[in-house]
Amino acid sequence: MRDPYPLWEFLTPPSEHGRPERMAVAAEGTRVRFADGRWALCATSGLWNVNLGYGNRAVAEAVARALLEASYLTLFRAGHVPAVTAARALLDACDPDGLGKVLFSTSGSAANDLAQKVARLYWALRGEPGRRVVVGLRGSYHGMTYGAFALTGERLGQDRYGVDRRLVRHVAHDDDGAGLRTLLRREADRIAAVVVEPVLGSGAHVLTSAFLSELDRLRREHGFLLVADEVATGFGRTGRLFASQGWPFRPDMVITSKGLTNGTCGAAAVMVSHAISSTVAAADAVLVHGETQAGTPSTCAAILATLAETDRLDALGLASRLSAELTALAEGLADHPLVEGHRGTGCFRALLLRGTDGHLDADQVARVVTEIAGEGALVQPGPSAVQLVPALTYGVGEVAELEQCVRKGLDRAAEVLVR
Ligand code: PMP
Repeated sequence: MRDPYPLWEFLTPPSEHGRPERMAVAAEGTRVRFADGRWALCATSGLWNVNLGYGNRAVAEAVARALLEASYLTLFRAGHVPAVTAARALLDACDPDGLGKVLFSTSGSAANDLAQKVARLYWALRGEPGRRVVVGLRGSYHGMTYGAFALTGERLGQDRYGVDRRLVRHVAHDDDGAGLRTLLRREADRIAAVVVEPVLGSGAHVLTSAFLSELDRLRREHGFLLVADEVATGFGRTGRLFASQGWPFRPDMVITSKGLTNGTCGAAAVMVSHAISSTVAAADAVLVHGETQAGTPSTCAAILATLAETDRLDALGLASRLSAELTALAEGLADHPLVEGHRGTGCFRALLLRGTDGHLDADQVARVVTEIAGEGALVQPGPSAVQLVPALTYGVGEVAELEQCVRKGLDRAAEVLVR
């Protein structure tokens, strides 16, 4: 028997697999082309990873050159020059004073697993092997591999898959740190790390300064490691290269992926503090982790080219201008009967949606996304929200075009969702 559609698509039921209106064939700049010949304005940057737009030539050429020069070199029990160069460039761009070493990985999820392993190794080497619990935030997303899925605070049916959550805890982020304080009162000596997204991707919740300062105070009091999961917020998404660069204190680990290669490679990196790397060095300890395809020469070339292009294009300057336009867009849509408000920062926004029967559920949000797609723009579904996460390189007039598409799509959805 031959299945007429061989692809198992992520996160959709089989009845929706292979829908022609979603079948993309190509992408260029800020546009995606579909199998039926339509082009759509992309307001998702792929999956929040193509921050510099599709088809960046410098990144593509760097990858091609690296593939021809050394199609593959391993990081198992060895280093290679492209990986050392990319590691140095990443640390220099993020925080050379605070961060000492880079571990390469292949996805945001795998990197989250890796960060948890590093935290547990660190405490074992520091003589506190009982510190094995990792804390995440309610509503957070850290990925789909088992460790990252366990840490993910969104309820995504973890139990069905046998995800083991004995060594994770979840606390609120909208209570100025009260939940974390209570947890630490109970089991501070078991907590290895707290992992936070600077902006929770699902819903675009920006961590408040009150939460952040309590997080820092509690870290100084209890000594857990603080991990910034910047898989989504890294590479200019919120206006700085890394959102945590705007915090008044520095995390002990920073995880980066998505924008790291402008979406061209399965790539991620965990950057760790000097304190972590020197503890491991002092014990001369082996971290049992490795991924065959992590930090390949082509991935490292993509990272270096992405950093160079971020500079050349002044992506952070572009992001700041685009951010102002997105605020105006969100405020301009505030009068729409489906729009309740907006959240987010930089080029990471959510329009909050409410119909006659209250906050929109997932099916109703899907309806809105489909209507907006029908008007020519791709937006991301969020919890009772549509999310706008455009490339930092949006051109003149593209935000106005996006606003038109969103408004018309909302109008059409309102015909059924508002009575
Ligand atoms: N952490 C965060 C903050 C993310 O946004 C994502 C992806 N949306 C992940 C981890 C997982 O990354 P990946 O899909 O590359 O495994």
